[in-house]
Amino acid sequence: MDISLVIPLLNEAESLPELSAWIEKVMKEHNYSYEVIFVDDGSTDTSWNVIEELRRKNPNIKGIKFQRNYGKSAALNEAFRAAQGDVVITMDADLQDSPDEIPELRKMIVQDGYDLVSGWKKKRYDNTLTKNIPSKFFNAVTRKVSGIKLHDFNCGLKAYRNKVVKSIEVYGEMHRYIPVLAKWAGFKKITEKPVEHRARKYGVSKFGLRRFVNGFLDLISITFVSKFSKRPMHFFGLWGSIFFLVGLGISSYLIISKLLSPLTFALTNRPDFYLALTTLIVGMQLFLAGFIGELVSRNSATRNSYLIEEKTGL
Ligand code: UDP
Ligand code: MG
Repeated sequence: MDISLVIPLLNEAESLPELSAWIEKVMKEHNYSYEVIFVDDGSTDTSWNVIEELRRKNPNIKGIKFQRNYGKSAALNEAFRAAQGDVVITMDADLQDSPDEIPELRKMIVQDGYDLVSGWKKKRYDNTLTKNIPSKFFNAVTRKVSGIKLHDFNCGLKAYRNKVVKSIEVYGEMHRYIPVLAKWAGFKKITEKPVEHRARKYGVSKFGLRRFVNGFLDLISITFVSKFSKRPMHFFGLWGSIFFLVGLGISSYLIISKLLSPLTFALTNRPDFYLALTTLIVGMQLFLAGFIGELVSRNSATRNSYLIEEKTGL
């Protein structure tokens, strides 16, 4: 199969018929063998009925319906497990992404050999203040932290080599960081392509301003998890030891000066006494956190989750 098109949706009933007609047109023109996987993320409108209706007319259309709203990441993850196409393309359901981009995206994976091609909404049709400005900041931070040179991490339109989507797990709200997850899974050929973006025709946006707060916290946690979850002692142990040694240094200094001239000062009147106390305690706490972290990761089912690229002679 050439292409799996993955479309997560929440209450987008009005857009679906137009979207799927457009997709069918593009797929027919290029003679692709394909599937469209709609994931209904707990819609409360008639979206699921529309999907079933569309499937009756076109057997390439497939659907997954969640029991309730689990979020875009869960929807993508579930469809990624099911996707059979050599190239997997994700797209929003609200007609803001254009299916006309599909052939070029596929070409960049199949011919140019990229693992992941991310869409870049160079010219955006969203509300400037609430979206475009925070998203510039968000992208700049993500670029810095991840070292991936993309302008628009959160674009819904992306193309992947099949192996990439089978190698990553998208959970929580990590759909904003799929390129980062892919890079950490070992896929290096990541690039972007400017894509056409359109104003929302039907319905309303499903994400509020909270996206930026959550998005930022998620970035911190994936950075940390990817770096240290398999070796927590390297982080906590290091900082714990540094704190502890500093505390030890200050207390030795205090003890020695007290022994040399016992009557000149009372220990508890000195600020460095409290500094010594806190650094010792904080250091010990950090060290213990690292040790407990090691025990947890030692027992984790994924402690040895690595990906094998190829084998020979086995
Ligand atoms: N979406 C989803 N589950 C959610 C929120 C959104 O499947 O909990 C879908 C939504 O239906 C759309 C896509 O994710 O197809 C992008 O959402 P939206 O257009 O609201 O985001 P925006 O374009 O405003 O960033
Ligand atoms: Mg949208």
